[in-house]
Amino acid sequence: MNIHEYQAKTLLKGYGMPVLEGRVARSSDEALVAARALPGPVYVVKSQIHAGGRGAGRFKEDPNGKGGVRLVKSPDEAEAAARAMLDHTLVTKQTGPAGRVVRRLYIEAGCDIKQELYLSLLTDRETGRIAIIASREGGMEIEEVAAHSPEKILNQTIDPALGFSDYQGRLLAEGLGLRGKSIAHFTKVLRAAYQAFVALDAAVIEINPLVVLGDGGLVALDAKMSFDDNALFRHPELEELRDPTEEDPKELEAARHGLSYVALDGNIGCMVNGAGLAMATMDIIKLEGAEPANFLDVGGGATKERVVAAFKILLSDKNVEGILVNIFGGIMRCDIIASAVVEASREVQLNVPLVVRLEGTNVELGQKLIDESGLPIINADNLSDAARKIVAAVKGARN
Ligand code: ADP
Ligand code: MG
Repeated sequence: MNIHEYQAKTLLKGYGMPVLEGRVARSSDEALVAARALPGPVYVVKSQIHAGGRGAGRFKEDPNGKGGVRLVKSPDEAEAAARAMLDHTLVTKQTGPAGRVVRRLYIEAGCDIKQELYLSLLTDRETGRIAIIASREGGMEIEEVAAHSPEKILNQTIDPALGFSDYQGRLLAEGLGLRGKSIAHFTKVLRAAYQAFVALDAAVIEINPLVVLGDGGLVALDAKMSFDDNALFRHPELEELRDPTEEDPKELEAARHGLSYVALDGNIGCMVNGAGLAMATMDIIKLEGAEPANFLDVGGGATKERVVAAFKILLSDKNVEGILVNIFGGIMRCDIIASAVVEASREVQLNVPLVVRLEGTNVELGQKLIDESGLPIINADNLSDAARKIVAAVKGARN
């Protein structure tokens, strides 16, 4: 789960992260009030969307205009900037061409930036530990820095038994070329980020830029946080920060039905039970030269209701040109799944090719139910057969 910059800053501040004063605004009136409450003389009006690159982004309605992060010199200018940004679609490198509608702004105090650093904490899958990544090339795209000057990216892995140690902060600070009191400030920033990461079961905390101010102090000027969905049950307070307008409606609907669904870019909708089988299904679709439109795991207890919900979600994706159902009937019997698939197909008035591959308990009975349904559902014998058949059926339907 992702949250907005202003929410991340509020959370991080609670762990000791230095941030600037700011207020959220959902209308230009609120932006005016928010700016008036700040000391000035400089204010920054920041689009709140779940994507980065806002500063360099452009609004669809005004492609030659200013970006999604604007520096202004008075509360009146903040109000005008808010009017120009709210309810408009911001396109950044991270949103893709469709962009995101800006519904909230963060009105923040401006500051005097001496240097922009990059800092992030994430789970390093290789070591299974939290890693701190830092670079003196902050503010810009870290991927570019990593590709062209990897030596400018520093990292430290944290031993879970020891936790974060100040010497790791000093090592990184030295690598970043920090001096004087900035070194102690940097260690404090790391400690705050690490404590927040662990306490909130974060997946990523990214502060880009972390800025060095004229007086040597540090402040988190941007903050991106995402959380481990599997740990969200431990944090009902985080669930309240969810912004459904920023999430894929298909993913939200799937979550309501207890389905694991991830939208992808391809054209073959997949309905599978078990994450391993889902991965294998996506692989084999690619092997046949097509691309999966999603990852959808209906889980072990695939009831008819779940199958119907899953079909509806798949069909609501207009990129889906065909569906591949790949179910292993272990706990669940294949005949129950087959009748759920048949009923669901009738209910949603399926209008794209559907290939079903069943394996496991009562598989013959399941296939018979499908054959005798009178619906144009194609039975497949095994995984490769299923992938070949759906790819061919989609090609056939196009011609
Ligand atoms: P994004 O990464 O989405 O472009 P940022 O929050 O990093 O958004 O803002 C982009 C740039 O705008 C920053 O790198 C910084 O130079 C400037 N900026 C952001 N917030 C402030 C602020 N409060 N005061 C001064 N400059 C700011
Ligand atoms: Mg940024």
